[in-house]
Amino acid sequence: MKNAKVSSNQSRSPKIAIYPGSFDPITYGHLDIIERAAAVFDKVIVVLAANPRKDTLFSVGERCEMIRETVQDIENVEVTDAVGLMVNFAQQHDAIALIRGLRAISDFEYEFQMALMNRKLAPKVITVFLMPHDKYTYLNSSIVKEVASFGGDISKFVTQGVASRLKEKFSLS
Ligand code: ADP
Repeated sequence: MKNAKVSSNQSRSPKIAIYPGSFDPITYGHLDIIERAAAVFDKVIVVLAANPRKDTLFSVGERCEMIRETVQDIENVEVTDAVGLMVNFAQQHDAIALIRGLRAISDFEYEFQMALMNRKLAPKVITVFLMPHDKYTYLNSSIVKEVASFGGDISKFVTQGVASRLKEKFSLS
């Protein structure tokens, strides 16, 4: 009986989740969500959703590089970019879950709509909402860019690498 249980555990397919977003740039709030997801799933694929209609400060390449640098110590996390519907990406990569971060009630309505739409499109892909540590609930990429653009201290919100790229962008170095 004991042996049977072990062998069924060994043969189960890895539980893969995707974490899509624009990450313009990645913040400690995103990292918090990635760490939580990586603790629950066997593999987490951070997917930079390259939306050509969205104006971003950093290019796809720059954003991917910053994500890679930020998650380099987490073993079961991969980083890639993709265009198109994220549920399609999930299905193509055998992911069972799509991770989203929920900071506050203000995130809820949009995220709820997205989750229901995604469920209609791909009923087997489960949206999983994770809450960050409360010290990150006010944090988003836009506010970090705004503070950085005025030369404010962003060291509590992003890694050193990301902070210096922001400084460069705003020519403050
Ligand atoms: P989007 O452009 O779709 O808002 P983002 O790249 O900003 O995507 O974020 C991707 C995901 O990460 C979203 O689910 C968003 O709610 C979540 N997220 C962003 N910042 C934080 C944070 N500080 N704490 C928790 N989740 C966050």
